[in-house]
Amino acid sequence: ETVLTVDGLRKIYNEGTDQANMAIDAVSFHVDKGEFVCIVGPSGAGKTTLLRCISGLASPSAGAVTFEGRPLTNVPEQLGLVFQDYGRSLYPWLTNGDNVALPLSARRMPRAERAARVAESLQSVGLGHVERKYPWELSGGMQQRVAIARALSYRPELLLMDEPFASVDAQTRFDLEDLILEVRRELGITVVLVTHDIDEAIYLSDRIVVLSKNPSVVREVVDVDLGDER
Ligand code: ADP
Ligand code: ADP
Repeated sequence: ETVLTVDGLRKIYNEGTDQANMAIDAVSFHVDKGEFVCIVGPSGAGKTTLLRCISGLASPSAGAVTFEGRPLTNVPEQLGLVFQDYGRSLYPWLTNGDNVALPLSARRMPRAERAARVAESLQSVGLGHVERKYPWELSGGMQQRVAIARALSYRPELLLMDEPFASVDAQTRFDLEDLILEVRRELGITVVLVTHDIDEAIYLSDRIVVLSKNPSVVREVVDVDLGDER
């Protein structure tokens, strides 16, 4: 069952000026419910642009994104976002628990429910014990887990991640990859993840969307079947 449809997406930066730059063109693919899709391609292929257009952080110049048949809206019930730059995405003056609570407070969830949801989200990434600590007291890998917990706190249907493991060391990256596979299994959430690392894409995903650089279009969609290996 298709939940996410990306249809003919094009993004031209600085459109109508002599700086015009077509970052992506005619990108189309679909994602089934519960599927894990990776978007790969060389640097500058438009991966981040594509993810920003899907999430509504950037407006496409042409084409459309629909989720369950309707335009995808950037609300925490629908969409969880995780970026590479976890250091900047967590607020240092808030505890980890309060960082995770942000999407919930923004939607005015009642205090008791919010507290339960924060504890549940942090536990789901193995960090129940850091709720009252601050992000700067944690390692980079742990901070990224907090960022994932925040993205999951509203139990979104779709998780979008942009190079989420690019800034951590190799062992931490392997741990985070396994964590996200486990979270996905437990929650049955649909995941779209951008990476430049083809090995990571093969390890994580059911399907890989390959973007080429010139022109920046979908070159190939590859099915990954690892059987029981994962
Ligand atoms: P939009 O078309 O979505 O409004 P803009 O073209 O206005 O986006 O660019 C958004 C911001 O990104 C601007 O502040 C611009 O300075 C900055 N920017 C411009 N060129 C680049 C680039 N090559 N890479 C990253 N950011 C850039
Ligand atoms: P990737 O994530 O695959 O490295 P990007 O989506 O970051 O690719 O960039 C695709 C192209 O769009 C590049 O040529 C980049 O310079 C350009 N670009 C990205 N962001 C902006 C922006 N905000 N304004 C103008 N150009 C941009």
